[in-house]
Amino acid sequence: SSSSVSTPKEEVNVWCIFTKAAGNASMKYKLLTFSHSLVENANTVIIYLHVIVDTSSQRIAQEILQSVKDTLKKDLKISFYDVNQIAKNLKSLVAAMQPHFSSQPGSYYSDSLFFLSLGLHHIAPVSISRAAMFDIDTKILSDVGKLFELFESFGNETLFALAPELSPVYRHVLYLYRSKNPSSKIGDPIISGGYPGLNSGVILFALDRLRNSPTFPHLVHANNVTSLAKKYSFKGHLGDQDFYTLLGFEHPELVSVIPCNWNRQLCTWWSDHGYRDVMPQYAHCEGKVHVWHGNCNTPIPAT
Ligand code: UDP
Ligand code: MN
Repeated sequence: SSSSVSTPKEEVNVWCIFTKAAGNASMKYKLLTFSHSLVENANTVIIYLHVIVDTSSQRIAQEILQSVKDTLKKDLKISFYDVNQIAKNLKSLVAAMQPHFSSQPGSYYSDSLFFLSLGLHHIAPVSISRAAMFDIDTKILSDVGKLFELFESFGNETLFALAPELSPVYRHVLYLYRSKNPSSKIGDPIISGGYPGLNSGVILFALDRLRNSPTFPHLVHANNVTSLAKKYSFKGHLGDQDFYTLLGFEHPELVSVIPCNWNRQLCTWWSDHGYRDVMPQYAHCEGKVHVWHGNCNTPIPAT
């Protein structure tokens, strides 16, 4: 605002899910922390925030996001999308994923939100060609315009980009496969040249490529998902990120790995459940933290 000649700022499309927030103070605080930090630090871009909600959560989100706008006095565009409508439209996608990547198979509606990112290209308006999705248990410390710059480093076929999982969860889940295939790098930490899997707290989407991809519909088809899970003897419980993890290992050209500091996970659960010795190798992440991810309800450090 200090310069007299300025190019208009690019608008970036950021998505998040905010459901079951009624009567849940912690959910409200998370949305406030996420949205305030996102907008406050966005210097080179204007945020268009797309929020997937249920009816009562929408009213709560409206209030929180209005307070962020009023406090920061910055541009913020907002749209809401109904999670129940989306769940209907993504029913077959969820049905394909759920048997392999859900802890409680059987409840389509409550589960569908954890697989919804895999159908974002069907949900987002067609005018949107690129997007990022964040978990709301995050705090953004850098200009999100810098995250969108990572699209420029995508390969010709890249559809998604995610940061590495920073716990040994896939070492655990892939125990059987790893014991039968001791030379495989899947489930090993990055610092020993491995592929630890991916965390879906921050995702970049090449939405135009996803819509036009002749192969992606086959990749998420039940037959393919089942054979992929079977190949790795895989039974997970982390929803979309289980699929991204297998897809990214099987087809690295489709799923890029972005730097860990864009999704610096804080959960230490695995350290207390049998993996204390190896946890530091998985959690290793150098450089300035761009995004804190307070996963498994871990508090985010005050900075
Ligand atoms: N979420 C939601 N309502 C819920 C549970 C989850 O809107 O009842 C959304 C929210 O955006 C959250 C994301 O789903 O950040 C993933 O859940 P969470 O972050 O709790 O999982 P974790 O990162 O701890 O594995
Ligand atoms: Mn999270």
